[in-house]
Amino acid sequence: MRRRVILLGPPGSGKGTIAARLKTEFGFEHFSTGHLLRQEVAKDSAVGRQVGLFLERGELVPDELVLALVESTLAKSRPEQGYLSDGFPRTLVQASAFDAWSGTRGLAIEQVIYCESSEELVLSRITGRRSCVACGHVYHATFVPPKTVGRCDECGGGLAQRADDSEALVRRRFQVYLRETEPLVAYYRAQGNLTVVDASQSLEKIMARIEVMLRQ
Ligand code: ADP
Ligand code: ZN
Repeated sequence: MRRRVILLGPPGSGKGTIAARLKTEFGFEHFSTGHLLRQEVAKDSAVGRQVGLFLERGELVPDELVLALVESTLAKSRPEQGYLSDGFPRTLVQASAFDAWSGTRGLAIEQVIYCESSEELVLSRITGRRSCVACGHVYHATFVPPKTVGRCDECGGGLAQRADDSEALVRRRFQVYLRETEPLVAYYRAQGNLTVVDASQSLEKIMARIEVMLRQ
């Protein structure tokens, strides 16, 4: 089974939800740079305050900072378990730096899953999105509701709407995505390890397709 996997796609295309399912079903080590960055902000460290300025504007955090964060996170994990990344890499600089870093450690990416989604679909999904303030698990008021309203199924933490999930900021983030991140689709397609998933399908359909692909 392929266990070094990248989820690529616009904000709100379902990457976090897919990651959580793969984690429960196959024990993937999942990390989300967005969640790691929000944790830095919550700590209110010097780095966190810097990071917060980018998040508030819907802009990308500088590559060096994100790369350092990812490398230290993976250095602490068990490499034989593989990794499942939600939201990284997001720029060509991040992608090529990660290829170099992971390649020399025998941890090269095995599969990239591209969740293709329109701006309108993303908007309708993100406005209902709620995430756990403690563990980052993602829910949706209608599509993926928690068992108890306002409480995380995983850890019992409180659920909240993210500060950057307003309509104006989602539109902004979508533009940033098109400019900075979408070029990665061609980059990974050229490497031959890209699978495209239609994010407008039901989660069950998407998961069935991903599972078949990861077992190949
Ligand atoms: P979404 O996928 O809905 O945009 P994330 O939690 O992945 O949500 O990201 C939230 C924010 O965190 C982004 O708008 C960006 O500012 C920052 N961020 C996350 N991952 C990266 C990354 N790899 N590089 C730069 N900035 C990032
Ligand atoms: Zn939780």
